[in-house]
Amino acid sequence: GDLPEWNEVDALVEAAYRRYRSVGDGAVADYIPALAEADPERFGVCVVGTDGGVHSSGDTQIEFSIQSISKAFVYALACQELGHELVRERVGVNNSGAAFNSVIAIELNDGHPMNPMVNAGAIATTALVPGASADERWDAVLAGLSEFAGRQLELDDAVYRSESESNQRNRAIARLLASYGRVELDPDEVVDVYTKQCSLKVDARDLAIMGATLADGGINPLTGRRVVPPGVCRDTLAVLSATGLYERSGEWLFEIGLPAKSGVSGGIVSIAPGKCGIGVFSPLLDSAGNSIRGQLATAYLSRVLGLNIFASA
Ligand code: GLN
Repeated sequence: GDLPEWNEVDALVEAAYRRYRSVGDGAVADYIPALAEADPERFGVCVVGTDGGVHSSGDTQIEFSIQSISKAFVYALACQELGHELVRERVGVNNSGAAFNSVIAIELNDGHPMNPMVNAGAIATTALVPGASADERWDAVLAGLSEFAGRQLELDDAVYRSESESNQRNRAIARLLASYGRVELDPDEVVDVYTKQCSLKVDARDLAIMGATLADGGINPLTGRRVVPPGVCRDTLAVLSATGLYERSGEWLFEIGLPAKSGVSGGIVSIAPGKCGIGVFSPLLDSAGNSIRGQLATAYLSRVLGLNIFASA
């Protein structure tokens, strides 16, 4: 990778944190009751190079539930097991143009979930993870995401319980998909695995490492272990470019020029292929459910580190 030299990256990560830490716009997610308790002041920025260099500023070791960011990594695991063609046909790769938890987008597309980064497609993807039972599928998801992070991840029990008690909409989505034959397992069991994957605890540093693993063709730059093959990274990054920030994905690509995935707890992971992963955390969200300070810090880093994938120089 061609990141600037170590001290310069360190200084720019610190600058990204200082520039935006006092931005107070946005609101903490509250449709999952446990998320409403998040501290809106928290802000962390981390860059991990494909050389294994870790550059952190702010609250990069404060844990939060990974939420929708899990979708990117479960998708990579499903692609690895089932292959490009099958996952493309079953889950899709096009932006739905609708909110992440849209039901009408499913209906308008004859029951097709559209893409793996909206809830419908993520639930369909989790249903494709191999395993003889829901427990086995969960074990595979937990082991796979832990490999991406390079450490054993754990469930946030309070978030898992809170979302399980308030996820009628995701259950409805899973049943609707089942009615179209798009989910062949018990829909409640699939949603339970999906809810668990969303409740895994990570910090901004973990996100940067997970992103750096996708940036490095599937090798975790801290553990040196291969998690997925390069072709799976390529497929995942293409899908993230089109869909990672939901209906704002076009704007994000236009402004920032990096495949990325956001989550409603305030994390965003971005991937600069061959160079680095960026993990940011700040719970104050815009109306699409994307972290506001996270977007600002990532835009800044993409610019000053020269990461935009569409830039020729
Ligand atoms: N677990 C959340 C949900 O299913 C994830 C949504 C998100 O992060 N956008 O609603």
